[in-house]
Amino acid sequence: MASGLIRSILVPNRGEIAVRIARACREMKIRSVLAHADGDISPEAQTAFDDFVPLGAGESRDTYLNIDRIIEAAVRAGADALHPGYGFLSERAELARACESAGITFIGPPASAMEVMGSKAASRKLMQRLGVPVVPGYDGEEQSIPHLEKEAESIGYPLLVKASGGGGGKGMKIVASRDELRTSVESAQRESLKSFGDARLLLEKYIERSRHIEVQILGDAQGQIIHLFERDCSIQRRHQKVIEESPAPHFNHALRDRMTGAAVAAGRGVAYTNAGTVEFILTPEGEFYFLEMNTRLQVEHPVTEVVVGIDLVRAQIEIAQGGSVPWNQHALVQRGHAIETRVYAEDPRQGFLPQIGRVAVYHEPRGPGVRVDSGIDLGSELTVRFDPLLAKLIVWAETREQCIDRLSAALRDFVILGTGTNIDFLRRTVEHPLFRSGEVGTQFIAENLSSLFPALEAEPAMVAAVLQAGFARPSGEVRGPAATLPNVWQSVVTLR
Ligand code: ADP
Ligand code: ADP
Ligand code: MG
Repeated sequence: MASGLIRSILVPNRGEIAVRIARACREMKIRSVLAHADGDISPEAQTAFDDFVPLGAGESRDTYLNIDRIIEAAVRAGADALHPGYGFLSERAELARACESAGITFIGPPASAMEVMGSKAASRKLMQRLGVPVVPGYDGEEQSIPHLEKEAESIGYPLLVKASGGGGGKGMKIVASRDELRTSVESAQRESLKSFGDARLLLEKYIERSRHIEVQILGDAQGQIIHLFERDCSIQRRHQKVIEESPAPHFNHALRDRMTGAAVAAGRGVAYTNAGTVEFILTPEGEFYFLEMNTRLQVEHPVTEVVVGIDLVRAQIEIAQGGSVPWNQHALVQRGHAIETRVYAEDPRQGFLPQIGRVAVYHEPRGPGVRVDSGIDLGSELTVRFDPLLAKLIVWAETREQCIDRLSAALRDFVILGTGTNIDFLRRTVEHPLFRSGEVGTQFIAENLSSLFPALEAEPAMVAAVLQAGFARPSGEVRGPAATLPNVWQSVVTLR
C-alpha cells in the first residue's frame, strides 16, 4: 500500500471529479495524469491536468471500467499512484489489488475493506457483530422465492428489496404487500445481475418518513480513525441524492455523538484507511440504523470540506503515502452551514429523464461562499454514454437560513443552455417552505413533485445570458440554444 512520496497520480475518471483531484495535485506539486477515453477531455480537464494518456475508444467497459487498460496506462504514463475518483471502478477491490501487483499506490482503503463493504449483506453481518444497529431484515444466503416470502412475513410490509452488490439506487424496489413480492424480487434479481454481475438480494424493513444521514471518516495506516461529522442527504429522487448538507438540520449533540461513534467503530472493524463514508437511516423516532459503507470519496464530500475547513483529497493523498490523519479529532469543528446541489442534465417533468445536447451558454454563479465543481464548459457535448451529472454548486453561510438564501440566489445565476437541466427544479426545492423548515425526509421530492416543477417563465439572468451570447433574433425566429427554451421564454428572447 503506502510506498513513500507520491510524485505522479493517474486519474482514470472524467467530469468534475477528475478536475477536483487534479487541482489538489497541482497544489501539492504532484504531476497529474488524466486517463481518458478517446476524445473525452473537457476544456477544464485540459488545463487542470499536466498529462494525458488515452484508454482507447469504445464504451465505458472498454475504457474507464477496464482494469488492464488502466494499469497499462499508469505504467505507460510513469504514474506511481492512482486516484479512482467515484463511480466507475472506485469501489472495486480488483482495481486496488491490480495496483498493488503493479507497484502503484492505490489512493483508497485496503482491498480487504472494499471487499467486505462492497457487499451490503456481508457488511450488515459485520456491523451486527460490532454492535452497530442494522435495519431489521434478511441478509442470508438462501435466495429462493418461498424462503424470501417467509422472511418477508416476519419482517413485515412495506419492505425494501435490495441488490447486495448494488449502488446508485439500482436493483432497489419497495414492496407494499405480499402479492408484489415475487415480481419485485424477480425484477430486482434481473437488474442486479445485469448491473453488478450478482443476483443476490437482501430484504429490509422499509422505514417510512426516514432521513439519510451519513458520517465521513478518515483512517491511516497507523490505526488512527477520526470522523468529520455528518451530512444529511435526504433530498433524493429514485433513491439517489440530489441535495446534501452539513450539519444535518435538527440534529442534537447526543445523536451526533452516537452516530459518529458508530461510524468510527465500523471503520475500526475493517481496519479502514483513507476516506470512507458510513451511511445511516434515521427514523422519525430518532433511532438510526446502518445502511452501507462507501469505500471512496463521495460526490457530496465538498459540504464537509467547506464546513470543517479542510481538503479531503489532499488528506487522502497524504494518507496514501504513509502519512497520519492530518488532524486531531478534538481540533475539528463544524462552522456555519453548507449545502450542495447536484446539477444534472435531466428533465424533472419527464421522470428525471437524462437530457443530451451541446452546451451553448454557460454561466457559473460567483460570490462569497459560492463554490462550483464543474465538469462542463461552453461547447461540451452531452451524451447518454456517461452519468448526467454536470456540476455541483456548493454554498456556505453562517447559518442554514442564510445558506438557503445564498443558494437560491446562486441557482438563479447559474445558466446552462443547450441541454435541459434540473437547475430551476433545484431552486424550487431549496425555496420550498418544508425544505426551509429542515423537516424533510427521503420522500420529499416524490411527495411534492408537482410544486417543484420548473417555471415556464424566463429568469432575468437566463435572458441576459441568451442575449449576450447573441442568440436572440429580432426577426422573431429563435435559433441556437434559445430554441431549447420553453415557448414563453422564446418569446421573451425574441422580443428583446
Ligand atoms: P454518492 O453516494 O457518492 O453520493 P450516489 O449514491 O448518488 O453517490 O451515486 C451512486 C453511485 O453512482 C456511486 O457508485 C457513484 O460513485 C456513482 N456516480 C454518481 N455520480 C456519478 C458520476 N457523475 N459519474 C460517475 N459515477 C457516478
Ligand atoms: P445505494 O447503494 O443504492 O446507495 P443504499 O442502501 O445506500 O443503496 O440506499 C439508498 C437510499 O435508499 C437511501 O439513501 C434511502 O433513502 C433509501 N433506503 C435504503 N434503505 C432503506 C430502508 N430500509 N428504508 C427506507 N429507505 C431506505
Ligand atoms: Mg448508499
